[in-house]
Amino acid sequence: MNILQRYEAMDYGAAPEARNEADAWLAGRDFSRALFIGGAWRAAAGGKTFATEDPATGKQLAKISDAGDADIDAAVAAARKALPKWQASSGYARARVLYAIGRAMQRHQRLFAVLESLDNGKPIRESRDIDVPLAIRHFIHHAGWAQALDKEFPGHKAAGVVGQIIPWNFPLLMLAWKIAPALAAGCTVVLKPAEFTPLTAILFAEICEKAGVPKGVVNIVPGGPDAGAAIVNHADVDKIAFTGSSEVGKIIRKATAGSGKKISLELGGKSAFVVFEDADLDSAVEGLVDGIWFNQGQVCCAGSRLLAQEGIADPLFAKIKTRMGQLRLGSPLDKNTDIGPLVAAVQRDRVGGLVEEGTRQGAVCWQPDTALPSSGYFYPPTLATSVSPANILAQEEVFGPVLAAMTFRNTEEAVELANNTRYGLAASVWSENINLALHVAPQLKAGVVWINGTNMFDAACGFGGYRESGFGREGGREGMLEYLTLKTPAGAMLKPSTQAEIRIGEGDAPLIDRTPKLFIGGKQVRPDGNYSFAVADRKGRLAGEVGLGSRKDIRDAVSAARAASKGWGEATAYNRSQVLYFFAENLSARADEFAARLTQLTGASAKAARAEVDASVERLFEHAGMADKFEGRVHQPPARAVTLALHEPVGVVGIVAPDDAPLFSLVSLVAPALAMGNTVVAVPSARHALLATDLYQVIEYSDVPAGAINIVTGRAAELCAVLAKHDDVDGLWVIADAETCKQAEAESIGNLKRVFTGNGRAVDWNAGPWAPEALLRKAVEVKNVWVPYGD
Ligand code: NAD
Repeated sequence: MNILQRYEAMDYGAAPEARNEADAWLAGRDFSRALFIGGAWRAAAGGKTFATEDPATGKQLAKISDAGDADIDAAVAAARKALPKWQASSGYARARVLYAIGRAMQRHQRLFAVLESLDNGKPIRESRDIDVPLAIRHFIHHAGWAQALDKEFPGHKAAGVVGQIIPWNFPLLMLAWKIAPALAAGCTVVLKPAEFTPLTAILFAEICEKAGVPKGVVNIVPGGPDAGAAIVNHADVDKIAFTGSSEVGKIIRKATAGSGKKISLELGGKSAFVVFEDADLDSAVEGLVDGIWFNQGQVCCAGSRLLAQEGIADPLFAKIKTRMGQLRLGSPLDKNTDIGPLVAAVQRDRVGGLVEEGTRQGAVCWQPDTALPSSGYFYPPTLATSVSPANILAQEEVFGPVLAAMTFRNTEEAVELANNTRYGLAASVWSENINLALHVAPQLKAGVVWINGTNMFDAACGFGGYRESGFGREGGREGMLEYLTLKTPAGAMLKPSTQAEIRIGEGDAPLIDRTPKLFIGGKQVRPDGNYSFAVADRKGRLAGEVGLGSRKDIRDAVSAARAASKGWGEATAYNRSQVLYFFAENLSARADEFAARLTQLTGASAKAARAEVDASVERLFEHAGMADKFEGRVHQPPARAVTLALHEPVGVVGIVAPDDAPLFSLVSLVAPALAMGNTVVAVPSARHALLATDLYQVIEYSDVPAGAINIVTGRAAELCAVLAKHDDVDGLWVIADAETCKQAEAESIGNLKRVFTGNGRAVDWNAGPWAPEALLRKAVEVKNVWVPYGD
């Protein structure tokens, strides 16, 4: 045997991480009193417990108290009681607490890592080098936000009592992503860890005791889905922050509809890993090891769909198979282990079932000839080729070590395939041509794009999804905003539009001044149903007629908006700015006419009407000016990379405007959406709809591209519900009565569109959550593009 043969024949020796400290901790605790509520350890009121086990052996690690409704009540009450003092404490005081948590975690870093690997099954190299350090970084980073709060977020206050529900795949890291920003903002929290992995959350509660977190500020309530639902439905919780499956995310969106609770949802993914033919293939293969086999593929942003350019697909697949053969499956506590067990038997069986179904649907699944450990929930790394875009392995989140590979011919096809998913969490682009990579990144519908890299995270860089991957961001400035609200007095309750105001078919009164039309795709078109409704003047006399829009008209308007969205969304900000300025100029030129119309319809004095028109022109000017200024940022994370936090349009935005100040309201909503590159389907005030139809001509003269603004007049509640259910509408902003707002939220779950409502109240267009800057924020998705540097 020569040296090379000897070298190749050498095997790894076992390199187990010591577990004595973790065992001592497990043995020394009374887990039947594992609810941490108001700073005290309690048993569940109903005395229930659940078991958590080591997925590498199937052996029970502990039996943990299982929170029931009464315990959730107690935890929420404790958080409520602690809120005023915590909120009123100085940012500096909160910063000290956050920093103390980070430091105390550092001192117990190894214990956290071992417990995490025992409870979840993830290799110790990952928990030790990634999960735990990132969690600590999160607390230390957010200490700074606590102290900078007043300066960085003027006018904001803590969202209040926050219910937080997390999954099992990154138990400690998800806890950190939730608790750190909440505490920095001055919120108090009730956090429920996942039922498979409660241990590090319990250790974290001990850290809170040591770090001087005031009693009741952090409450930890281990339990299952019922405990989660009790948090979601609790009337005294102000905000829900959830990480988990899209399925449960949708349940939560529906359950909180109309409650006024702020929610953020970090959900599933089916992220594309795009390899162009000029990529460094060996680096791409290492990227894939991280992208899909990190944490056994139980990663929301796992690069589970490999898209390889045709010319390099075969050599790439060959390299992947060779590398897969070298992956070491084994004990999570062995430092040489690459792949540990899946979290539970049910998860392993689910993965196996999906691979079987994918094979039945035509995929060719390959697994290396590696022996699986004799116990534990192991599943081998799997490469599926010949996967059609409709195959279950290309569409469903497997949440296991399964890579579905497809090929593409050119850049357009790569983008199309990458976006062919209901999710939008992350994507990874591999090319040695930075121009190509930066050309592709903005076209991908995903909240995070890694260039020549994967799974990079940092506390300073927002993380979160587009589409059914949820909404809201965790980390950085955007993440802080999820735990803050703008201080603003509540407006008056709005009444529903009543049927009496809209009379169908009263067609030929003498005052009729135009044929009723809608404005769709840049043209005035008749409503599909050929119905119209009468608009009364301030004295109840007929002022004119407008078209009565229906479901079909909304569908046409959404198609027109979608068709326009590429051109308008990709137009330069300067270009959009000029169009909005021109719009303002044209409205200004007809100010007298619009003021007269306002007086006629609303009874406003001539002076007040003129003031509303002037304010509308000014608002258009303001957003024209902001179109090229409300920009993203560049982050400098502690890695050899820069992160470009880009502001991208949300897409097609539905708008339902109120009766109050009908022109100013409509303009205040439409202008920021357009400024940021969205296209709009607007439902104006029905009562004063003639004002909106007067706007058609102004829009036509203002070089607004066809389809960028569409206006459908009709019954607000009915049209709003159609917009809410439409899966090609990406955002929906509704200022209407409470029931319409609630419906908008509840019906939006098909594609988890971003819904913002006034909760049935009148809103202030100059301050608070509906002021210009806050609306600009609603009008964008923040995409973080990670660009590594160095040789
Ligand atoms: P899951 O949705 O089943 O459970 C997540 C959490 O919600 C658990 O704590 C569970 O007890 C709780 N829960 C379940 N039903 C509930 C209900 N009706 N009401 C309230 N709470 C309820 O998800 P999971 O299987 O634990 O985790 C895997 C999922 O999490 C994957 O889809 C993954 O993509 C996603 N995930 C997303 C991110 C992200 O940042 N986007 C990060 C990690 C994981």
